[in-house]
Amino acid sequence: MATIEDFYGSVRNELQSIKDAGLFKTERVITSPQSGRISTEDGKQVVNLCANNYLGLSSHPEVLAAAHEALSARGFGLSSVRFICGTQDLHKQLERRLSQFLGTEDTILYGSAFDANGGLFETLLGADDAIISDALNHASIIDGIRLSKAKRFRYQHDDLDDLRRQLEAADAAGARFKLVFTDGVFSMDGTIARLDQIRAICDEFGALLGIDECHASGFLGARGRGTHEYRGVFGKIDIITGTLGKALGGASGGFTSARAEVVALLRQRSCPYLFSNTVAPAIVGATLKVLDLLEADTSLRDQLEANAQYFRAGLEAAGFDLKPGNHPIIPVMVYDSVRAQQLSQRLLELGVYVVGFFYPVVPQGQARIRVQVGAQHTREQLDAALAAFAQAGKELGITQ
Ligand SMILES: *Cc1c(COP(=O)(O)O)cnc(C)c1O
Repeated sequence: MATIEDFYGSVRNELQSIKDAGLFKTERVITSPQSGRISTEDGKQVVNLCANNYLGLSSHPEVLAAAHEALSARGFGLSSVRFICGTQDLHKQLERRLSQFLGTEDTILYGSAFDANGGLFETLLGADDAIISDALNHASIIDGIRLSKAKRFRYQHDDLDDLRRQLEAADAAGARFKLVFTDGVFSMDGTIARLDQIRAICDEFGALLGIDECHASGFLGARGRGTHEYRGVFGKIDIITGTLGKALGGASGGFTSARAEVVALLRQRSCPYLFSNTVAPAIVGATLKVLDLLEADTSLRDQLEANAQYFRAGLEAAGFDLKPGNHPIIPVMVYDSVRAQQLSQRLLELGVYVVGFFYPVVPQGQARIRVQVGAQHTREQLDAALAAFAQAGKELGITQ
């Protein structure tokens, strides 16, 4: 019989095998607020190009002031789930405002987008139904789908012919309701899902369409409403999930936005909503301010777009091989995982914080540095980062 000590030994072995495979993740410690330039534990100041802080709102003075105000007026936390005593006027206001912003009927808040996705599929679909999911969808979508009893179909990433084949297969399997679900933006490549075409295919098959807007809400599209706006299908998506933890302030919290009856059923049955604490008042108050800022004008998303274009052009001029695209996620392709790590290491020495991604997060031989530009980056910061990239690229023989 195995002992308790055997269990701990087995956990240590698992950790060692992660290390042996070169896949052990360490956490760098930051000692300043999130911003265009941050301080690290060794007292260095570095340009930060790896936060999801797309609009620079994580430390925006008006957002901080709104958080302080809500903290003073409504308290630190509610010590309750929503349906007992965890709902304040602010929560209801935020749900209304998010619905207006996203072009939907109603919205339900969750502790995170991971929870929103985790509590979605099981609640809405049963064994007679089918979910058709992009192969590269986020882990939280995959987990959420696993929890449901619906039949599962997976189409190859961004492959609309295969989407059609999988919808045919779902019909052949006798599925009652069909839900196609995709990331609006895929975070490793910055690929923007072709929602106009996907919507048309869904209509042909009588399928619902759901999207995860974590890397889009707040800045994609002319008014920053998201991928549906960018692709010309605003108001035509059945279910939108998203996060408050990226562009919309960067603290934490998530949501599902949809038709009123869908949201009503989620409030009755969705486990991460029923059995997990309400979003803290300071976050809710601050997010209301974020929506005020984004609805008042498009200056932040415009600045982000300009910064992303500037940085992309600069990296290209320096001879780097980039995945083409139109999103502030800029994948700098290095291909080899050791060289990707060397490049990120050298860049850190030169004052630029970026992270290398390699297998299994991306396919074998597709190692890269994922740059994420934000509206908060000044020209001076972007130029300093471009100079560092140019130098490190040459030193390591990645560029000529
Ligand atoms: C970040 C992310 C999530 C998780 O968001 P949290 O609110 O941090 O849980 C879910 N889906 C996608 C596509 C994401 O990028």
